[in-house]
Amino acid sequence: MNVNKIVILTGAGISAESGIKTFRDTGGLWEDHPVEQVATPEGYAADPALVQRFYNLRRAALKDVEPNPAHVALATLQREMQARGGEIMIVTQNVDDLHERGGAKNVVHMHGELKRVFCAACDHHMDCDYDIFVETTCPACKTTSTVRPDIVWFGEIPYHMDAIERAIKKCDLFVSIGTSGAVYPAAGFVQIAKHYGADTLELNLEVSQGSYHFDETRLGKAGSIVPDWVKEMVG
Ligand code: NAD
Repeated sequence: MNVNKIVILTGAGISAESGIKTFRDTGGLWEDHPVEQVATPEGYAADPALVQRFYNLRRAALKDVEPNPAHVALATLQREMQARGGEIMIVTQNVDDLHERGGAKNVVHMHGELKRVFCAACDHHMDCDYDIFVETTCPACKTTSTVRPDIVWFGEIPYHMDAIERAIKKCDLFVSIGTSGAVYPAAGFVQIAKHYGADTLELNLEVSQGSYHFDETRLGKAGSIVPDWVKEMVG
């Protein structure tokens, strides 16, 4: 492997074969809901009980899915890179926990996590593998009706942007896996990587909106093309 610093960006496509639907294969709906209803601050303000129920169901559904060979392969790549003194950052737009359950460490969840919630009053963030409700009381500040899913909704600022941009600016290789290239700022990472001299590779089921930015695009299911690429990388 003659690459020393890699940044990998993953999207909903990497979890599709585990049984979690992407936005694109449902025509922009998330489990039958328009994204404006369940993934915006305005949707939450309009009907917090519906939005809490939606994320309770998504969180509970994690128990019925397993990581697929793509998640496992990226964890293998991470271990191999680190054993060889290389640097690798796995950044995901996904809110599921399949990278971690596939063995990856320190995954950067730029859009938050289903198994985290926070209090909008005191900004206390906490792990959560149970249902929350509008009436839930924050354990830190004891306010009621302020605990919400720790998900970055459309119109909110993604997490860890400084660290992600720093890693992209110094990487030798930027790889995008299973993402449509439609959701910014993640869709713009490839341009930053190229501008700073990295090679760029896209692994996706189909040509995406951003494909033309990449040096190379390989098409296929993540569960096959990601392990194949990792084998090439680690030998
Ligand atoms: P997206 O739905 O916009 O695009 C998914 C991409 O994956 C598409 O380009 C599609 O062609 C590709 N794809 C589908 N099946 C694939 C497979 N088997 N192998 C490889 N590629 C496959 O998703 P996005 O680009 O991640 O952006 C939408 C937003 O949706 C993100 O912010 C994310 O947080 C949220 N989301 C997350 C999950 C999750 O956590 N698993 C699920 C749905 C939506």
